[in-house]
Amino acid sequence: MAAGHVLELEGVRKSYAVGTPAQTEVLHGVDLALRRGEFCALMGPSGSGKSTLLNIIGLLDRPDAGRIRIDGQDTAGLSEAQLTHLRGHAIGFVFQYHYLISAFTALENVMMPMLLERGRADAAIVERARGLLDRVGLLPWQDHRAGNMSGGQQQRVAIARALALQPPLILADEPTGNLDTKSADGVFALMRDVNASQGTAVLMVTHNHALAERCDRIIQLVDGRIVAPATSPG
Ligand code: ADP
Repeated sequence: MAAGHVLELEGVRKSYAVGTPAQTEVLHGVDLALRRGEFCALMGPSGSGKSTLLNIIGLLDRPDAGRIRIDGQDTAGLSEAQLTHLRGHAIGFVFQYHYLISAFTALENVMMPMLLERGRADAAIVERARGLLDRVGLLPWQDHRAGNMSGGQQQRVAIARALALQPPLILADEPTGNLDTKSADGVFALMRDVNASQGTAVLMVTHNHALAERCDRIIQLVDGRIVAPATSPG
């Protein structure tokens, strides 16, 4: 397998209610590779398996069959602790319904992955979190509670937090899905900017064709299978 890939899936299968008469296979052998620094849109109708696939790539769920390599590391046979470590260091998550802690400030939210990593706050963590907030244009908002910020601002905080441990891959599940057009454009532009300047690969689930066209590649999932891209962006 090529060293230039941040993500490689081979023959990934997933069924729900395994072993019951109602067993249904949701992913029917997915092959997928993302190069380092690549920005891909993942599109497909509702129910096609996008969330299931993202959960498996994010090491939040395990496939029934197939191989997954994240940042060159084969995940087969890793313990829960090893999966948690790999997830924490190799993958940043940005979801539609951000999972910021609303009672915490923007700064505290961005510090969180580093606090969990180091076990305590120190000046370096505060400085890095401030730098990340500055990166997403929200340094003046560092002391505002996340719950009091707009949807677009919260998504920017989530992006800053996702970058805290400098992962080579960001998984984004409809990051602009609940934003107005202007905020959605801003959040997408920020992700594109981070991708270009830091080489962070992005896999972004979206239903927004205009944004998908601005990605390096569109991956289409239909009925649990990747189909050849219908359109070639650019
Ligand atoms: P998408 O994100 O593309 O809308 P999902 O991955 O959410 O698709 O769902 C794909 C299929 O898997 C759907 O038919 C859904 O009902 C089913 N599914 C998803 N999660 C579960 C689950 N935990 N248990 C049973 N079926 C599930």
